[in-house]
Amino acid sequence: MQQTMQDFPLRVGSILDHAARYHPDRPVSGRSVEGPIVRSTWQQVAQDARRLTGALQTLGVQKGDVIGVMAWNTTRHLSVWYGIPGAGAVNHTLNPRLFADQLVYIITHAEDRILMVDFDLLPVIEAIYDRLSGIEHIIVLTDRDHMPDSTIPDLICYENLIRDQSPDTPWVEGDEREPCGICYTSGTTGNPKGVVYTHRSNVLHAMSASTPDMLNLSSNDTIMPVVPLFHANGWSTAYTAPLVGCAMMMPGRDMAPAALYELLEMGVTMTAAVPTIWLGLLQHLKDNDLKLGTLERVIIGGASCPRAVIETFQSIYGVKVLHAWGMTEMSPLGTICSFKPEITRMSPMAQLDAQDTVGHPPYTVDLRITDETGAVLDWDGKTQGDLWAKGAAVVQRYLKQDSDALDADGWFHTGDVATIDRHGYVRITDRSKDVIKSGGEWISSIELENCAIAHPDIAEAAAIGMPHPKWDERPVLLVLPRAGTRPDRAEIMALLSERFAKWQMPDDILFVDEIPHTATGKISKLTLRERLKAMDYRLPDLA
Ligand code: AMP
Repeated sequence: MQQTMQDFPLRVGSILDHAARYHPDRPVSGRSVEGPIVRSTWQQVAQDARRLTGALQTLGVQKGDVIGVMAWNTTRHLSVWYGIPGAGAVNHTLNPRLFADQLVYIITHAEDRILMVDFDLLPVIEAIYDRLSGIEHIIVLTDRDHMPDSTIPDLICYENLIRDQSPDTPWVEGDEREPCGICYTSGTTGNPKGVVYTHRSNVLHAMSASTPDMLNLSSNDTIMPVVPLFHANGWSTAYTAPLVGCAMMMPGRDMAPAALYELLEMGVTMTAAVPTIWLGLLQHLKDNDLKLGTLERVIIGGASCPRAVIETFQSIYGVKVLHAWGMTEMSPLGTICSFKPEITRMSPMAQLDAQDTVGHPPYTVDLRITDETGAVLDWDGKTQGDLWAKGAAVVQRYLKQDSDALDADGWFHTGDVATIDRHGYVRITDRSKDVIKSGGEWISSIELENCAIAHPDIAEAAAIGMPHPKWDERPVLLVLPRAGTRPDRAEIMALLSERFAKWQMPDDILFVDEIPHTATGKISKLTLRERLKAMDYRLPDLA
């Protein structure tokens, strides 16, 4: 039968066009890397994006060329986010906190031709410049007055480059399945792996992420993405915000609680970041007896969110927490803990329990859990298994790999361990390589950690499984005390014993001066295991 509908290629440029046309004056503000708070609008962001598209074409950029971007969350970065795919090129986000070797690897592996860099991050590129081949231009994201002296020759000034270009430069057209962005996974072992998003996957992802049971964003919101755009596709906020036409507040490079608080109080209704950021902000609010005037919702994900953070936001500051789970390979949204009616009907305590889960997926994401033999497990909220995902914005194959990253039925193995309840609420209990396997049972390292940090003197905790000849592994808890405190071992054990059975309790508690983190802010259990090995640590009953 003849079909009679128009074709509408799902290209990301159409998202910004929508914002510029129907929400032209909505504020897009933020702290610039140069220092001052700057104010822009969706119309101006779109005009600069089109200027950049024109400028990249004058530099010879062709469809499919890869452009690496190392930049903080600024209004300028939003124009870059669209100007690159607007020219048909691919936006490769670069995390400045990666080790030099990893940066060299991913820039080379993705075949970046141009780098765009915030001026304060130029030293990161200078340090590896000699090892980079194939880079034709480096564009510094600033104006002429702030161009730094550099050992790198022929740097291009961004504002000069785009100044004379037309704000009406047309986007390069093409198929919606063309590549649009690349983000590398922060693999703790082996080389990082490239995930290439398409225009279509990004648009579909942004549409499902902005629905009411997910981010619930609208043109009445002002969102501040504290999560950097170089983490996991920037949690898609640079797509979802213009898609719904909401205002944005970009935090720039200063993530200190006082700096974030200043911006939050400028009308922000929704914000997003990993738990560590919020631990710092809540401490700042407490120490200075501050209130949150406009903030309504906070998305917390990237790592398990401690219950104390959820409780404090909600009961003291009246800010609703949306606990979220996702990964680079999923663009990144997997689930968000919004309340279905089944949860709304529950008691406040049961609702809080529900918020320990990461909630349920949107349309376009499907999930399942399996046991070690691959058998699909029940959704009873208790049985833990390997978590698998399928969807419109889930990776099929890592960049330049020979085979798909999927099983025979097309499911992607997330590497997480989870339970799912009958309402579809997912509880992440561990990374599969971090789950502690003791006597044939699994102990959740995340649950041990979250319970431990409810202790007022504990700043951070990490549970890891140490080899044991009889039990396979036994848990050890590493504890970073809060500055100036000396938490009591017996007290911590008593706290844990309220939630855990005897066999799940740690065999040992070690007090440490530091808990190491990966470049995306997750606890590096690999480093912790190496450290314990280097000090020839033995469990108490084996010593
Ligand atoms: P990344 O690709 O760097 O965003 O890391 C994705 C991984 O972060 C997931 O596979 C999980 O292991 C972890 N993660 C993300 N969100 C959560 C969460 N809410 N709770 C527990 N782990 C999480």
